[in-house]
Amino acid sequence: MVENAQPLADRVILVTGAGYGIGRTAALTYARAGATVILLGRTQEALNDTYDLIEAESLPQPAVLPFDLEESDEDKYRLLAEAIDENFGHLDGVLLNAGVLGQRAPLQTYHWETWQKVMQINVNGQFALIKHLLPLLQAAPADASVIFTSSSVGRQGRAYWGAYSVSKFATEGLMQVLADELENTSQVRVNSLNPGGTRTTMRAMAYPAEDPASVPEAEDIMPAYLYLMSPQSGDIHGQALNARDLAETLA
Ligand code: NDP
Repeated sequence: MVENAQPLADRVILVTGAGYGIGRTAALTYARAGATVILLGRTQEALNDTYDLIEAESLPQPAVLPFDLEESDEDKYRLLAEAIDENFGHLDGVLLNAGVLGQRAPLQTYHWETWQKVMQINVNGQFALIKHLLPLLQAAPADASVIFTSSSVGRQGRAYWGAYSVSKFATEGLMQVLADELENTSQVRVNSLNPGGTRTTMRAMAYPAEDPASVPEAEDIMPAYLYLMSPQSGDIHGQALNARDLAETLA
């Protein structure tokens, strides 16, 4: 069988947290697969750098969309979705990748403000985004794919991971509820992906004593991110997957 080198041709894909780490690599991967990528993140300069990487390879021109997921005014999310609608008319995929680590501390001493911030960005912001983007996903001409980003500590609680761990459990819950709501009623597929330990700023913050060279790079898990976003995974819905395992299966 000849593999399709451009499985995302003519598709519009939103990637959150596209300025750094896994999100930047995923945005570049999707652009190489033919997608027009909307780059969402908090830091404009970082998004511009990802834009330049995509432009340097003469790939479909991306769009830069600075947005802070700490925003708690729901109207801002509605306006964001309206702006995407005006420019693109539909969405074929969303990678909900942006997230923050918060503190590594026992619950007894965990800062209330940090807890609120992590839950706002990692859970509430994702909910508000997906709520307002759903009509655009449902307007996709073919199938559309939503990927939530989980973590090992979102599937098994671990001491000192506090709000981050709890927020990733909530992410799995969000995925399951949405997947069940869309089951048999929509061409929108919804899954969660645990990247596994990956060499990024967040990983270095979580494990300061670790040698970064010993941790796999984001590039290594991209086959899983591409497969789940593309029509090739059309029958996968409502599943909690591990990127490392999936990438190995696909190799
Ligand atoms: P990074 O810290 O490298 O990148 C996180 C991204 O999220 C950045 O682009 C950041 O942009 C964005 N972001 C953070 N806060 C906000 C905000 N308020 N509004 C908009 N964007 C925001 O992390 P990784 O690439 O390592 O992580 C990506 C995802 O993978 C996360 O969800 C993480 O929990 C998950 N993960 C990562 C693992 C790893 O080993 N790396 C393991 C398991 C899960 P900016 O800095 O501009 O705010």
